[in-house]
Formats: sequence, C-alpha cells, structure tokens
Amino acid sequence: MRVIQKFGGTSVADADRIRHVAGQVARRIRNGDQVVVVVSAMGNRTDELIDLALSVSPDPEPRELDQLLATGEHMSAALMAMALQAMGQEAIGLTGSQAGIYSRAAHGAGRIERIDADRIEDELRSGRIPIVAGFQGVTEELDYVTLGRGASDLTAVALGVALQADRCETYKDVEGVYTADPRVVPNARRLIDLHYEEMLEMATQGSQVMHNRAVELAATHELPILVASSMIDVPGTLIHGGPEMEERNRVRSVVDDHDIAKVTLRHVPDQRGIAARIFEPLAEAAISVDTIVQNASEQKLTDLTFTIAHEDLRRAEGLMESICESIGANGYTTETNLGKVSIVGAGIQTESGYAARMFRALADANVNIDLITTSEIRITCIVHSDHVGKAVNALHKAFGLDQEA
Ligand code: ADP
Ligand code: ASP
Ligand code: MG
Repeated sequence: MRVIQKFGGTSVADADRIRHVAGQVARRIRNGDQVVVVVSAMGNRTDELIDLALSVSPDPEPRELDQLLATGEHMSAALMAMALQAMGQEAIGLTGSQAGIYSRAAHGAGRIERIDADRIEDELRSGRIPIVAGFQGVTEELDYVTLGRGASDLTAVALGVALQADRCETYKDVEGVYTADPRVVPNARRLIDLHYEEMLEMATQGSQVMHNRAVELAATHELPILVASSMIDVPGTLIHGGPEMEERNRVRSVVDDHDIAKVTLRHVPDQRGIAARIFEPLAEAAISVDTIVQNASEQKLTDLTFTIAHEDLRRAEGLMESICESIGANGYTTETNLGKVSIVGAGIQTESGYAARMFRALADANVNIDLITTSEIRITCIVHSDHVGKAVNALHKAFGLDQEA
C-alpha cells in the first residue's frame, strides 16, 4: 500500500518524539508499505518564528515572513530524515520546492497550483523515504509561499492525490476525531469514522483537528484520511466517502469556535444589487464572511448583519465607511466577544426536531443565542464567547454524545 504519513507539530516537538515517529515510519516500511512523510514545524515553532519576526519589525513584509516560516518545516524534515538514517533507513529531507509543490501567492495564504511529483517518485524508486516539509509551496519564481495555519494537512492530502496514494494518515496529539474537542468536553468520545461532508463542516466551523481545504481536496478525489495518535496505537478515525459504520441521521459532533466579530449595517435600502455592493469589497480584501442575516424590510429599509473572524475586523472596518456611503446605509455597529457552537451530522436537516432540541438545551444552560444559521448537515448558533464552553458541554450531553452510539 502507498501511504502519506503526516506528523503534526506535537508529534515532532523534540528529539525524542522525532525518534519515536521515525521508528513508526520504519516499521511501516518493514511491513512492505511505501511511505511518503510530511512534517509540520516542531511544537510551537511557527508561533515562535512569527514572534521573532515581529520583534525585528512591527509589520514584516509577507514575502520575508514566508521565507522565515518555511524554515520551521525545513528543520523538521531534515531532522526526521537523520533520525530514519540513524535507524538504517534510506531517507531524504525535501523542502516544498524540492518536492515540486508549486503554489500561487498571496503570501501566508497560498494555494497549491500543481505538484510535479517526479523527484519524489525518483526517490521512492531508489528506495529512499521522502520526508517533505509541509505548509509550503513555491511560486514559478521559486519564492516560498506558506499555505495558511495548520496547512501541513493540506500538503499531505495534495501529495496523496498527486502520488495516487491509497490513503493519507495524519498523526496528532489526539487519538482521532472526537464528538467534541476533548480539551473543551472532557468526556468526548472518539468517532470510528466520519463522512467527508461531516468532517468538512466541522473543519469549516472551527474544529482545528483537520484543515478544511485538506478535507475538501480529499473529498473531491475520494482519498481516505486516517486521523490517529502518534503516541499510542489505537485505530483512530477514518474519514471517507462510503457508508458509515455508525448510524446516520444523528448528531455526530459538537464544534466550537472563538474570536468571532459581528458587523451590523443599519437601515440598508431594500434594493437590487445592494448585497453585492456590500460583499464585493470584502471579498476583494480576502475577508471571509461567515454568517449573513438580512431581516425582512420595513418601509423598504432593513438591517443586515454578518460575522467575520475577529482578526479581520480592523481591515473590515477600514472598508465599512465607504460601503455604507455607496449603498446609502445609516452607519454600522460592530460587536466582538462572540463565539459559535455547531451541531453536525449527515441527515439532521431532513429529520425534524434537532433545531428545537438544540435551542432548548442552550436555554436550559442559560445561553443566549445571538444568531442562527443552518446547512443541510449543521445547525450553528452564535453566542457570547464566555458561554461557548458551557454551550458545547450542554449540547454534547443533550444529544447523547457522551454515551456509546
Ligand atoms: P496537528 O498536530 O496535526 O497540527 P492540531 O493540533 O492541529 O494537530 O489538531 C489537534 C487538536 O485539535 C487537538 O489537540 C484538539 O484539542 C483539537 N480538536 C478540536 N476539535 C477536535 C475534535 N472534534 N476531535 C479531536 N480533536 C479536536
Ligand atoms: N506549522 C504550521 C502551523 O503551525 C503548519 C502546520 O502545523 O500544519 O500552522
Ligand atoms: Mg493542525
């Protein structure tokens, strides 16, 4: 079997951990599997590099920041190759550029454009284990572009697709994907498997356990992803497109997200083309808008509310004056200190009663709901950030996720 094995930051946090996961890779090779390894930067290295950059410049050039951040993963790849070599395995560390991963800028938010897998295939043919630095690609001019926080998962899936791997395995500090973040809900349980669409909703709603574009790419190419622990040998969670082992039509997980900001435009004229004029400038500035609520209009005027990541608020505020002016709205207000909780499960929208149960559970936990949105397999409530923890725990209990399926 051909597999991509991806090791996240905690799995390569220090020399001991690197030797431990190198041993895991070596065992797979001895079992006859063909392995390509993808590594993240060690521990919190990426955050440390960002702090270092900010200590020499208040506003580092995005290109130089990417030059710097790419080194975090370079380090892990070289060290992992050395650890494997010390165990008698032939291995070679590769940067994103040496691995043939081409991406398009924006710096800090690159997109993988294509993968030229010849070098990796050559290394595999000559019996070496390629160890690829995650989270990065290069432009055609060979400038480094990082792919967004947590995007080593994306490198792993993209390589899996390009190399036609049988599956992609991502090793983390958790034993798989749980019914909720185990750091927030102590009695969360590991799920045996999940459908791509469920994992994609979870990732998009803020569950950091898998990068959302990685899940999206895996779904498009039907590449199964295993999420498992690099510390202990348990079966993990398989994300795939087939029928699930656990029943459908039920809530599978509760997801929490923090640091959300809300913008409300007041007295927006109810006319054709207004929404486009509000959201086009935001899209051009690459500000991703999440929930959008437009109320029914009274006397041809309405309020329009949307949410964005808190970190984008300053940039959005920079655009709001001119947006208000261009549409003739009567100003805007903003609110921070918001978070969100979502319930996710394939088929929950086709069964009645899930929304009512969610609202009742939140009411009983004394959590006020600010906004509500739904998709076919998800219901999300925006709540005060101080209430996110108790809301997630209340929902986890209300939908019986603390009990065996
Ligand atoms: P990696 O080391 O591969 O980058 P991450 O740290 O990005 O891994 O993701 C693992 C973390 O995701 C866990 O420590 C856990 O707190 C968090 N997490 C959030 N939601 C979930 C969930 N539903 N199941 C498992 N882990 C979750
Ligand atoms: N090192 C990068 C980050 O911390 C990428 C990753 O770990 O996936 O975001
Ligand atoms: Mg991650």
